[in-house]
Amino acid sequence: MKTLKKFLRGLAVVLVILIVAVYFFRAPVTSALWGLFVSPPLIAQEDVALGKNETWLDDYHTIEKIDETTYALNEPRFFQDNLSYLIIGEDRALLFDTGNPGRDITGFMRGLTDKPITVMPSHLHYDHTGSLSDFDGIVVADTDNLKDQAEDNLLTPTHYQYMGIAAKLYDLPTWKVDTWVKPGDKIELGGRTLIVVATPGHTPESVSLYDPSTNILFAGDYLHQGEVYAFMPNSRLQEYLDTTESLLKDLPKDVRIYAGHGVPHRPDALGATYQDMSDLKDALIKMRDGDIEGTGILPRVYGVNDKIIILTDIPGPDSPVWDFRAVDKD
Ligand SMILES: [Zn+2]
Repeated sequence: MKTLKKFLRGLAVVLVILIVAVYFFRAPVTSALWGLFVSPPLIAQEDVALGKNETWLDDYHTIEKIDETTYALNEPRFFQDNLSYLIIGEDRALLFDTGNPGRDITGFMRGLTDKPITVMPSHLHYDHTGSLSDFDGIVVADTDNLKDQAEDNLLTPTHYQYMGIAAKLYDLPTWKVDTWVKPGDKIELGGRTLIVVATPGHTPESVSLYDPSTNILFAGDYLHQGEVYAFMPNSRLQEYLDTTESLLKDLPKDVRIYAGHGVPHRPDALGATYQDMSDLKDALIKMRDGDIEGTGILPRVYGVNDKIIILTDIPGPDSPVWDFRAVDKD
C-alpha cells in the first residue's frame, strides 16, 4: 500500500513537471506536433468539390479563372487547400505565392500567359514558397527586416519563418531576391498596379497585395474561411488587430479578399469579405478584453463568425502571441 502511494506521488510530481515543461516550452512542442501531423494523406480526388470556374490541371492541381487576367492555382487535395494567384498585366505577370515544395507549376503558369512571370511570396512558410526558385525574378517585401537578413540578396528563412519543425521535412531553401519592395510600393504590371500592404499577425513579415483595378486584396494567410492560424511562436494577436483596423480604414467595403487557403469541400477561391474583417476585429478585441471564451488548450480556438475560427496560443502573461502591448506601433 505504502509503495503504491509512493509510486502515485512520484507519478503526480513527474506529471506536474511535464505539464509545466510543456507549457513553457510549448513553441518547440507545438512545432514538433505540427511537424508530425503536417502531411496527412491527400484527400481523394473524387471527394473534391470544384468551384464553377475551376478545372483540374493534373491529378493534384486545379485552376480557377477569377477573370480574364486573374487565376487561382489551387491544391484542393492538400488538407489546407493552398491557393496561389497569377495576376496578369499588359507587360508582365506576377504569381503571388507558389504552393507546396516538390511540385513543378511552371508549365501550368506559362500555359496561362506569354508574359514574363515574376513571383512573390505573401510570407515565408514552406507551403507558400515551394516553387519560388523555379521562376526568374523573385520579389520579396522588405518587412520584418528581411533585407538585413539576406546576404548579397540571398535569403534563407529561419526555421520559424519557414514554419518550425514542419520545415525539417524539407531542406531550408535559399532564394536569390531580385527585387525588394516595401509596404506602400506599387508593382506595375502594365495597365495594372498592385499596392504592397503590410499585413502582419499570422507572421511578422506577412504582406498582401491590393489591386485597385479589380478591387481585390490578395491576402496570403491574413484571413480566409476556416481555420486562421495565430498560434505559431511568431504570430501576434496585437499585430492582427492593428492590421485589421488599418485595412478596415483603407479598403472599400465591397473589397473581395482572395487568400492563401480555402476550405476543402467548399469550392471557390473567394476567401473573405469586409464584414469578415469587421467580425475579426470584434473577436480580437473581445479576446484581448476577456469577453469571449475559447475552447481547447493548444491551440486555443475562438469563433470569429459562422465561417471563420482563429487558432491561437494559450492566453497568459508569458505568451508573446497574446502580449497586446508587445508591438511597437511605429
Ligand atoms: Zn502561413
